[in-house]
Amino acid sequence: MRRLYACSTNPGKLREFALAAGPEVEIQPLPGMEAIRAPEESGKTFEENAVLKAVYYSRFAEEPVFADDSGLEVDALGGAPGVYSARFAGDQAGQAENNSLLLKRLNGKADRRARFVTALALAKGGELLGTSAGTAEGEILAAPRGENGFGYDPLFLYPPLGRTFAELTGAEKLEVSARGKALRSLLQLHYK
Ligand code: IMP
Repeated sequence: MRRLYACSTNPGKLREFALAAGPEVEIQPLPGMEAIRAPEESGKTFEENAVLKAVYYSRFAEEPVFADDSGLEVDALGGAPGVYSARFAGDQAGQAENNSLLLKRLNGKADRRARFVTALALAKGGELLGTSAGTAEGEILAAPRGENGFGYDPLFLYPPLGRTFAELTGAEKLEVSARGKALRSLLQLHYK
């Protein structure tokens, strides 16, 4: 079985990557990642951040590593929170505060269109091997629904299924999610 290291310690993301990779590729968090000083995510786009993280962390492993950057783009907010999705309500804020702020900013707005975006980059020994991206289009509800997933999932309605991402099973979400699409495309580009 091939092994690929993910430059993430986020359990929600790791679970989704492992599920999306299928039985032939084993996804593991990069060993010792907690002890490595994180690079500043200074990119203006998801792709720039994914590339800088993958290249940086690949120097700490023998095998290829991949990094992701992802977030939510809301049309009525000019694409915010975008690359600031994790710290929308401030550096110390948690997801509950991010979700509250999103609802507040969209209060009274008719245009609820939004998308999750995931960019991935694969690197080995400090060299970029390739990138991929995926998106999932949906709408932001006025109140959360569902218990699964993580992040903005309870507020993100996926219209083709009539459910939020937090109301989908892990496998259902990965069929249609930005992260699932981006990982399948990275594996296809570089491992087939
Ligand atoms: P990152 O760790 O810099 O990629 O930040 C991503 C942030 O965007 C997370 O902390 C979540 O708030 C949000 N996010 C990314 N992907 C998802 C998803 O699939 N569902 C819900 N929220 C997500």
